[in-house]
Amino acid sequence: MNSEPLSHPGAFLDIIGSVRITLNEDRCTGHGRCYSLAPELFDADDMGHCVVLHAEVPAGLEEKAALAINSCPEDALSAGGQ
Ligand code: SF4
Repeated sequence: MNSEPLSHPGAFLDIIGSVRITLNEDRCTGHGRCYSLAPELFDADDMGHCVVLHAEVPAGLEEKAALAINSCPEDALSAGGQ
């Protein structure tokens, strides 16, 4: 299994199969794009920073996860295989 991150700055991410979402809390500045685009996967804390609701992407939400990860302006989100 490949445990290397699948995303990098500016990369388009396709999520296929079982994937875990990782949040780098130090990078998150609370733009809110993740939970606006994929409220099934992300929420906001009291400061508007990201909270990952499902670290393991549920089946059927892979495209939304990829969209949110690719849309984070701070590259705070990444995905890796298991
Ligand atoms: S889009 Fe990125 S910076 Fe904005 S709240 Fe989500 S993880 Fe944080």
